[in-house]
Amino acid sequence: MGKRRPKSKFTDVACPNEACKDHGVAGRENIVGNGTYQARNKTVRRYICHSCGKAFCDSTNTFYYNFRKDESTIDLALNISMKGMSNEAIADVLKIQSATLKRWLALASKQCDKVNAILMKNLNVPKIEMDEMRVIVKKKIVPRMEVYEDDGPWMWVAFAPDNRLIVAFIIGPRKQHVADELVKLTDDCLSENIPVYVTDGLDFYKVALLNQYGVRIEYPKTGKRGRLKNPKIVPPDDLKYVQVVKKRKGGKLQEVEKKVIFGEDIEQSVISTSLIERQNLTFRQDNNRVSRKTIGFSKVAKWLVNQMKLYCTHFNFCREHGGLKYKDGRGIECKNTPAREAGITDSKWKLRNLLTFKCFKTPII
Ligand SMILES: [Zn+2]
Repeated sequence: MGKRRPKSKFTDVACPNEACKDHGVAGRENIVGNGTYQARNKTVRRYICHSCGKAFCDSTNTFYYNFRKDESTIDLALNISMKGMSNEAIADVLKIQSATLKRWLALASKQCDKVNAILMKNLNVPKIEMDEMRVIVKKKIVPRMEVYEDDGPWMWVAFAPDNRLIVAFIIGPRKQHVADELVKLTDDCLSENIPVYVTDGLDFYKVALLNQYGVRIEYPKTGKRGRLKNPKIVPPDDLKYVQVVKKRKGGKLQEVEKKVIFGEDIEQSVISTSLIERQNLTFRQDNNRVSRKTIGFSKVAKWLVNQMKLYCTHFNFCREHGGLKYKDGRGIECKNTPAREAGITDSKWKLRNLLTFKCFKTPII
């Protein structure tokens, strides 16, 4: 018998056990290999964590773990779902239960949350465009556009036009608290540099930006008689915000007014919302759930949110964008993904990469 070598240490794998002291931290030399086994025609590697003694395998805590269906069916179902086909129709075509598909969709959307929480951070973008787009959940009469506050639902999107990245989105009514949340979610993804914000004429954004970035100024005591001046919230010097207000008459565009709300020295070329408006068109074209004048809309808001989360994350990480062309090493023109263009990933992902991204591989420190 040959001499037994020490078991190889897997330094890029971390323990998925949340109770373990080395949970989520790679490179501590606590993980050793524990053989392999065959499952669904694939070799799966097993590991043991020496810190907590638990065994786990390649797919533990990833998307495909514990599913009976093969991966290609799951990928196919989710890919069709992103085009907006209804859960019932997909289940019918693929001969699966619609409850099964809904479970996959819910888990995929959770996985997207994790991926976004880890990767969509410290983004350095020069400009953010924000807009709302009316979506329909259940059939109901659509109020006229002049209504300022509206129970919606609306899909609010923050979009970085330079690399076509969907930074954040929310589905909710057209109310102040939703605008506040969108600005907060967006800022959570950004680095310390505040980008130029460009929106339509909805004043909720102005208040939301002040709530997020505003600086409180207290007036000192003057020594004179009378009531003290109330403290004021003012925008910081580096906050730049412009509104592009479109005036329509009888459905026709009459005039476009560019209003600088905060900041100075904003280049005229920056002031436009055309790219997010084009993006809204892509949403509607690509995804039957938000198409206009169809009855393919979602019947339950939860499924629209789950499906949109998967759609947007897939859009950022996996979808090659026609507006992001580059020449590869051989001089061939290729389309880039928004995430790769923004330097978040170094490759163009497939749906599989998104679903199996091991969130615990990144050290949690
Ligand atoms: Zn462990």
